[in-house]
Amino acid sequence: MDGRKRNPEAVAEAIRQAQTIAVVSHISPDGDTVGCATAMRLGLIALGKDVTLFCDGKVPDIMSSLPGADQFRIPDEKDGPFDLMLSVDVSDVQRLGRCEALRKVSRMTEQIDHHPTNPLFMEVNSVDGNCPATCLMIREQIAALGIEPDRDTAICLYTGISTDTGNFAYHSTNEACFSLMSELMTLDLPLAELNRILFRERAKPQVLLMGKALNSLRYYEQDRIAVMKLTTADFLECGALNEHADTLVNFGLDTVGTSMAMLAREDAEAPGIIKFSLRAKEPFVINDVAQSFGGGGHPQAAGISMYGNLDDKISEVLEAMIYKLNG
Ligand code: 5GP
Ligand code: MN
Repeated sequence: MDGRKRNPEAVAEAIRQAQTIAVVSHISPDGDTVGCATAMRLGLIALGKDVTLFCDGKVPDIMSSLPGADQFRIPDEKDGPFDLMLSVDVSDVQRLGRCEALRKVSRMTEQIDHHPTNPLFMEVNSVDGNCPATCLMIREQIAALGIEPDRDTAICLYTGISTDTGNFAYHSTNEACFSLMSELMTLDLPLAELNRILFRERAKPQVLLMGKALNSLRYYEQDRIAVMKLTTADFLECGALNEHADTLVNFGLDTVGTSMAMLAREDAEAPGIIKFSLRAKEPFVINDVAQSFGGGGHPQAAGISMYGNLDDKISEVLEAMIYKLNG
């Protein structure tokens, strides 16, 4: 698809016509999707709307202090009807998880997202595959609605922009990120405190899980591919949750001379599911490998969820990565 199909005006028009609005984040919520939803909630409340936040998954503890992060719910059959469902940072229908049910009880559906693989699955779609974080598009959306962001909104937006750009270090980081940062700083953004919470401090289970992941690290193809795995037993021993595995794949990728990395893990919260985090260094691309196993994501950061035996599936995905590496 065309990388740029932003449509803030159409999204705003549907919002203006709605009173009850369900804002939905993706499963395995990250800083961008949570930042988008909480920032949108503040804006919609300012417009006098009735907003409910939904997510089929627990918001990570490091985001629990975001304004409104405690408001997320998993939908049940009593929810709805809604005038409007708005999903944010959700790359495809599967990433809605159980929130997909909300589509049937919403009069209108729309989305704001930045994943290039997004198949435009809502009625109104504002999708820009070249945008570094969906939170940048939320700032634009708030502007289209005529709302001025406040300090709380700034905190939400910063969380999304900083986490999706690896704290302004990924290739995707562009001038738009810094323009917005300049504005957020004028809103009294508590930058040092947020950096400590989002990027430096780690929960003890995460530190312990890091040890397990590093112990499992193996290199293939003259060290050009790094593979790590975590089992349910590892999570139990560390008292860890899925969220504690979030950035561990980077240990493999950050090895000098490594071009691709995989972290494969048994889902600590959904028995039977295996989750792959795949990463690549430019110019290598990895989301087509993810897609060939039913997953998806960004060119250099993608993921897969599937059922099966952990070691068997690692072999299959590794084989595809080796094939891709050798072009
Ligand atoms: P992570 O490895 O951090 O879980 O995910 C990296 C990126 O891959 C996410 O931002 C998301 O776009 C994508 N992704 C992760 N897991 C899945 C999955 O199971 N299915 C799809 N389609 N995309 C995924
Ligand atoms: Mn995102």
